[in-house]
Amino acid sequence: MLNMAFGQSKYYVDSLSENTKRGLRQKVRMGIFPSQAPVGYLNDSRTKTIVVEKRKSKIVRLAFERYVKGNQRLEDIANFLAKSGVTTRTGKRISKTKASFILSNPFYIGLFKYGGEIHEGKHEPIISKKLFDEAQEMLRKRGQPERKPQNEPQPFCGLISCASCGMMITAENKTKRQKNGNVHHYVYYRCTKKSKTTKCAELSLRSEKLDEQLSSLIKKVSLPKDWAEELNRMALDDHKNSAQSLTACVEEKKVEIFSLSKKLERLLTGYLDQVIDEQDYRSEKSKLLLSKKSLEEEISTFSHKQNDWLAPFQSWIKDAQSLDKIASDNNLCEKKVVAKEIFGSHLLLAERKVRVAEGDAPNSFGKMGGNQWAALCAAHNSVSEKPLSSVLVDHKGLEPLTSSMPWKRSSQLS
Ligand SMILES: [Zn+2]
Repeated sequence: MLNMAFGQSKYYVDSLSENTKRGLRQKVRMGIFPSQAPVGYLNDSRTKTIVVEKRKSKIVRLAFERYVKGNQRLEDIANFLAKSGVTTRTGKRISKTKASFILSNPFYIGLFKYGGEIHEGKHEPIISKKLFDEAQEMLRKRGQPERKPQNEPQPFCGLISCASCGMMITAENKTKRQKNGNVHHYVYYRCTKKSKTTKCAELSLRSEKLDEQLSSLIKKVSLPKDWAEELNRMALDDHKNSAQSLTACVEEKKVEIFSLSKKLERLLTGYLDQVIDEQDYRSEKSKLLLSKKSLEEEISTFSHKQNDWLAPFQSWIKDAQSLDKIASDNNLCEKKVVAKEIFGSHLLLAERKVRVAEGDAPNSFGKMGGNQWAALCAAHNSVSEKPLSSVLVDHKGLEPLTSSMPWKRSSQLS
């Protein structure tokens, strides 16, 4: 497991950070709404942020101020927006419904809705929370409830495919009205059944059940605190050692360079003393200079590249350690993001159970081969015969004391 983790972490973390920088999670975490800016704002394609559009933002603010006075209907607000030259993105007149959407959009107070959840935004608010609250109150009073989009994307959409037909798993809202007047809302996940060749018979699964199953999958690749500490310690050791051998390597090259310089000097002397003719001098000199150049280059790449795996590795440890908390929390969006990172597109749903697609290698997630998550999972499996706590504690008299570290044992087992 260690071999895999060390060997692949750098490559993995490098490519991961490249990929997710552009990804939604990063954007949402950075407080940037990962979609098109609402009226009054603009997407700045240069900085990839959302900026206030001066003129229109003033009009939006005026619309809020007008509406909270209570003597204006949504239609009047729509008219006001039209008169002020504010249109939809496609240039159409803003409708009554759209006006109510604008008046209830928390984006204007610096928040944003994404994946059914409110996030804190980095963008500049254009109205005060007080004004916004008054507008919500007015919307309620005037019988226009806050708009709840019927088909707002559910957190786990686009994460899992159907094991039977290979189509994506989507979500569906269900409302159940009981005879006693209670109303229940459920979210179900089911196969889109869009395959034209396979008739799919998979059943749907309640959101809560799916959440439970995904959480337990994520927990299986989380890094326990004591493992993390030990890995960290080993990484630091390794880093120190490799730094030392690196220094030795660089020293060696420096000695070579020094001897090349000496040779160059002697060559020049021989040439000046007319022991060596000009042609020999030139060809010999260029050879020596070229090897000196490559040595110098080797030294500089050594010191820049070879030893920079520690930080990415440590950040991976941190990520892996946070998984347990994410799996226990209720933040479904976060769960989806980490599930996507760990399992990629290898999650399947069959008979109401989520599982990871089997790959070729014994501990791989899918056909891409094992990565460090798979290695972690394998490590968990190999200690899972006993509870972790008992594995981490020495069994005096039963086992050699040296194998108190679970990964040592797991590598022995595997
Ligand atoms: Zn299906």
